[in-house]
Amino acid sequence: RAKESGTNRFQFYTEDMGAGAMERLQLESHLRHALARGELAVHFQPQCRADGSVAGAEALLRWNSPRFGMVPPVRFIPIAERSGLIVEIGEWVLREACRQGQRWRNGPAPEFRVAVNLSVAQFRQADLVARVADILAETGFPATALELEITESMLMEEVQSSLETLASLKALGCMLAIDDFGTGYSSLAYLKRFELDVLKIDKSFVDGLGNDGNDSAVVHAIVGMARSLGLAMVAEGVESHDQYDELVAFGGEDILLQGYLLGYPMPADELDHRLASPTG
Ligand code: C2E
Ligand code: MG
Ligand code: MG
Ligand code: MG
Repeated sequence: RAKESGTNRFQFYTEDMGAGAMERLQLESHLRHALARGELAVHFQPQCRADGSVAGAEALLRWNSPRFGMVPPVRFIPIAERSGLIVEIGEWVLREACRQGQRWRNGPAPEFRVAVNLSVAQFRQADLVARVADILAETGFPATALELEITESMLMEEVQSSLETLASLKALGCMLAIDDFGTGYSSLAYLKRFELDVLKIDKSFVDGLGNDGNDSAVVHAIVGMARSLGLAMVAEGVESHDQYDELVAFGGEDILLQGYLLGYPMPADELDHRLASPTG
């Protein structure tokens, strides 16, 4: 009940422009201490094969603030980015994801892979590659099982330095995924320059599968191009059986499925149960 009213209060203020700026400042000052106060958590959303088995998971940050209730990432990630807090928080997410991932690899899922979102600020960090290497060494998680998600706009902003950063991450052995594909300005052929491994088909295209012929045509085309460029695929936001069926028909074994139909983002101990079950 307390949590609920906290959330409502938060939404009330964000709808008011004047209070919005104040709210952002308050969020920022609370976010500054959120990590140390144990208010942040990493949840894991399964990425499944066509047969429903779990191949890996995307790490997604959650903030349960005693003051504001559950604050959605769309609200606090931009604040974390603008304030620079995302560098420390993002590094913690990466360590947490690798630590849990290694636990699953040592247990029920030896091939388990983890996908982690990288923010622009982290991407621009001069010592990003060294930090990733440290975390891999510290957790024992193999680089080849770590997928770093970046967006098209991050690549297009500073092409030359992006190429160098990505090449170093590749040299470390990491997989590179392009998130929200199709919502930015790039072309697939251009993206090939960046030596990507995985293309994540944005939810906005998956939404219309099963009832919108245009979305079907777009997704079919993306799958065809990704295949010819040798990229693996993850479909985001799979919510219905119709979408699932159509994605499997297009992508077969080459596509992983992620969405509420296959599992919500969940705490690590819930994924433990999922992996222990016969379908895990
Ligand atoms: P994203 O990386 O594209 O993550 C996918 C988002 O889609 C997640 O939202 C997930 O909960 C949501 N989603 C998954 N399946 C479905 C579905 O079937 N239906 C619907 N409606 N939504 C679905 P979430 O967790 O709210 O995160 C939003 C965004 O915040 C992420 O988008 C990512 O850009 C950012 N984010 C989250 N965690 C982190 C993090 O640790 N670091 C950074 N830099 N960004 C993060
Ligand atoms: Mg992502
Ligand atoms: Mg995405
Ligand atoms: Mg998104």
